Amino acid sequence: MIKRNPCAANIKAGYLFPEIAKRRKEYAAKHPGAKIISLGVGNTTEPILPHIDKGLVDGAAGLGTAEGYSGYADEGFENLRRRISEVFYNGAFGIDEIFISDGAKCDIGRLQLLFGSGVPVAVQDPSYPVYVDGSVLIGAAGPWAEDGYSGITYLPCTEENGYFPDVTKIPENGIFYFCSPNNPTGAAATREQLNALVRSARERGTFIIFDAAYSEYIRESTLPKSIFEIDGAKTCAVEVNSFSKPAGFTGVRLGWTVVPGELVYSGGESVNADWNRICGTIFNGASNIAQYGGLAALDEEGLKEIRRLSDFYLGNAKLIRKALRELGVSCVGGDNSPYIWARFPGRDSWDVFAEILEKCQVLTTPGAGFGPAGRSFIRFSAFGHRPDVEEACERLAGLRG
Ligand code: PLP
Repeated sequence: MIKRNPCAANIKAGYLFPEIAKRRKEYAAKHPGAKIISLGVGNTTEPILPHIDKGLVDGAAGLGTAEGYSGYADEGFENLRRRISEVFYNGAFGIDEIFISDGAKCDIGRLQLLFGSGVPVAVQDPSYPVYVDGSVLIGAAGPWAEDGYSGITYLPCTEENGYFPDVTKIPENGIFYFCSPNNPTGAAATREQLNALVRSARERGTFIIFDAAYSEYIRESTLPKSIFEIDGAKTCAVEVNSFSKPAGFTGVRLGWTVVPGELVYSGGESVNADWNRICGTIFNGASNIAQYGGLAALDEEGLKEIRRLSDFYLGNAKLIRKALRELGVSCVGGDNSPYIWARFPGRDSWDVFAEILEKCQVLTTPGAGFGPAGRSFIRFSAFGHRPDVEEACERLAGLRG
């Protein structure tokens, strides 16, 4: 019999969200008829808006005609790559630097393959689990050692440091996953903070994998939406982004990654060329139908719909924040991101999770699942139908006393 991959064996049991789903199931089995409302996961809930939806439908219909048919599109439709450069980067990138993907998470996995197992890894603590778990799967980290994986530098993001880590602590010649606006803390890094990050990465020869999946939730005009708004980033950063959260494409699957031509390894070799090779080898491109939807999302009407949809979820976030503050729970996030990070000092997040489920039948996400610094926090997600969010907020009042 074939032996188990030791890297897979190093993964700590229970990826966060399956574990939450398991606990929900157990609760529902014990309390048949209970209406559980989820403020737990980052899955979108609202229908794709009409103009963008029409882009998908027309794109699919076109594939059934001789003129509209297309096959493999490798790095992605050229017009979509050009449009991404115009809309998100002020035209600063050529189409050869933008790679269309089937989503940010999938590209993060492929990026881990690009850098391999011999590289030091750092993350914000707390952080989106795929940075850490993917690093373990590729052999760049692990096994689990008490409070985190060996081989990973966890940089705490706490109330004291404004949820921005000490970037002078990032390892040399490694990769640093940085997400802004952040999942789970909801913190959006300022220009000064990102300047410090880029400076530190360049000094240390470390690459930043900048996850901008929530950039369209930024409402404060001074906050950067991309790492490439920062001078010098083209020589030390890769950016992943996605149509999932702004356009509701979580099930459609479409994203992109920017790998600047200037980005080189220590020996001067091009990272972009390697990325192109990897994508061509193990990925045959995003769905053409999804890309037609992406084109619709980025025209004038589509961008208005993106704004409308993200405004809707930010409206939910405002309600959740208000409900928590009325309870006297201190929280951050929710103003430039769909996540609210709520603090329960001295408590274990899985216990708070269980209490909220028990008393309010509201599902949340325990902060410990995002890293050791999340131990006393709960993440509330603003992805939900408005009546459900309103009801969940009323129920949260039940936590009083
Ligand atoms: N990056 C972050 C920070 C996320 O929170 C998520 C999804 O929750 C993703 C990436 C996944 O994006 P996609 O649906 O494009 O794979």
